Amino acid sequence: MSAHKRKIIPKKGSTPGIHRKKCCICGKPVCTDRAEYCLVCRDFAIRMSVERLPQASIQDIWESVRKNGYVCFYTGMALDMSSPTSPWYGVLDHWIPGDNRKVVLTSALFNEMKSDLSEVEFWYYVEELYNFKKNGTPIRKKRVVYWQGLVGPGRGIYKEGPTPKIHGKKCCICRKPVCSNHSKYCSICRQFAAHMRVARLPPLTVQSIWAYVRQHGYVCYYTGMALDMRHRKSPWYGVLDHWIPGDNKKVVLTSDLFNEMKSDLSEKEFWYYIEQLYHFKKNGTSIRKKRLVYWERLVLNLKPIISGII
Ligand SMILES: [Zn+2]
Ligand SMILES: [Zn+2]
Repeated sequence: MSAHKRKIIPKKGSTPGIHRKKCCICGKPVCTDRAEYCLVCRDFAIRMSVERLPQASIQDIWESVRKNGYVCFYTGMALDMSSPTSPWYGVLDHWIPGDNRKVVLTSALFNEMKSDLSEVEFWYYVEELYNFKKNGTPIRKKRVVYWQGLVGPGRGIYKEGPTPKIHGKKCCICRKPVCSNHSKYCSICRQFAAHMRVARLPPLTVQSIWAYVRQHGYVCYYTGMALDMRHRKSPWYGVLDHWIPGDNKKVVLTSDLFNEMKSDLSEKEFWYYIEQLYHFKKNGTSIRKKRLVYWERLVLNLKPIISGII
């Protein structure tokens, strides 16, 4: 008996069998005969496995995708699941920072704006920022429970404890007593000068930051809030922020928290999204996407490395 095997030659443009099989999550056609997922769900499954989430969290996320599709948990916005460089790219967000038990879907942009805040804290600061911008209401600080702060040893040289009394010589910036006979700065301004050196800012930028500190003290450029220049773990620790992302010409002072929330937005874009988020939360108004001029994200192509996982 001759083993006659009929070769199945697929017609161009069609994949045999696949049209019958649907993705187990979203019901779209699967990506290969043997896959249980479509392309989008397969990529997403790979990303979840890389995150090493507990099985229960993964099931909850799939459940929400089945029910609502790929939408932001916080705002209901449709997510872009195919372009990792987009601010609307769907990413996984720990609902409570650092806690793997509840992980939700949101956009890359709102994930960065949420930073190390819980959801309640995030909406609280959105409202406070909005009220400040709209009515000039000073922002009321509220403890940020999961804030990690800046990690690693401080580059600064600020030391806790009383400043030695050196009579007669005052800090050239803030007029407080200098930290040593050889320094022109007090301990805070000395540490801040070191930060600016590390940031390699152009001399003109440094001059304008000093002029700002001389005039206003260490306060946030965006909100006028007093900054904490001593404690690197504080959300109110004063940091340098590029007014326009990536542009060294104008660098301003803000808190570590608002610097994280501003992310890669220009000041104008930042206030725009604070306002949009506020109106969504208050009145359910859909957020209108607006192109982010300076948003740049590295395309992290994990697929070739981990294609064996699924
Ligand atoms: Zn699917
Ligand atoms: Zn000083």
